[in-house]
Parts: sequence; C-alpha cells; structure tokens
Amino acid sequence: MNTQIFRQLVAVFIVLSIIFLSCDVVQQGPMYASHNDKSQSAAPVATGMNVCTTCNGVGRVMCTQCSGSGKTNCTSCMGQGKVTCMFCSGSGKAPGSDAMCGSCSGTGQMACTSCAGSGKTNCTACFGAATVLCPDCHGAGVK
Ligand SMILES: [Zn+2]
Ligand SMILES: [Zn+2]
Ligand SMILES: [Zn+2]
Ligand SMILES: [Zn+2]
Repeated sequence: MNTQIFRQLVAVFIVLSIIFLSCDVVQQGPMYASHNDKSQSAAPVATGMNVCTTCNGVGRVMCTQCSGSGKTNCTSCMGQGKVTCMFCSGSGKAPGSDAMCGSCSGTGQMACTSCAGSGKTNCTACFGAATVLCPDCHGAGVK
C-alpha cells in the first residue's frame, strides 16, 4: 500500500516537475527575447555618443586657411594672374633692341602659368573643397 502511494506521488511529482519546467522555459523564452530586442534597438542611440559641437555633426568645418573660399592667391604671381615677362624682364622690348618683345606682345607681362592667369589656386589645406575634416571628430560628426 505505502509503496503504491509513494509511486503515485513520485509520478505526480515528475508530472508536476515537467509542467513546472516547461512553464519556466515558456516564461523565460519571451522575456529573454524581449530583453535582447531592447538592448539591440537601444544600441544605435547610445547615450555615450554626442553630436560634435565643433562641426554640428556635419563632420567638416570651414577651411581657415582660405576662409572657406577654397582658393588662395597664387604664390607665383601674388594673385595678380600675370607675371613679369621672363624674356624682356618687363620692358616689353626684345633684349638689346627697340623691337617689341614677341613673348609678351610688348606688355612686359605674361599670364601666370601656375594659375592659368586667374590669380587663384586651389587652397593647399582643403584642396579647393573650402571645408576640411573636423579636427575634433575626424569627420565622424559624433564624439
Ligand atoms: Zn599665378
Ligand atoms: Zn616680354
Ligand atoms: Zn582651404
Ligand atoms: Zn566634428
């Protein structure tokens, strides 16, 4: 008699254990998943990243060397676009004669070859882009 009751109790205990365990798994599953979803969706907007105040998140700042123009005065002609004729040294006359200098057509000046006569060249700091990578965030926009 006692043994039979004991066996029944054991059987009930095992069944209860299985139900309890399976309930536990079912309960833990969704909780675990929802916890993972939360942490994944929260990652991109992590509070540790702040928009760079130097560039306002753009990642680039105005080039200070050219004041944002992207161009600097040509160093060969000092921004004039013209240089003194190298054949007549600016006199406009062919050396040793009164004939007009053929190289500069008598003007004594030639178009600057460095800037093609424009007087401006691309800024050496920003390569004509007028902006440079933000020094604080190195172009990331956040830091
Ligand atoms: Zn020039
Ligand atoms: Zn000349
Ligand atoms: Zn520049
Ligand atoms: Zn920045």
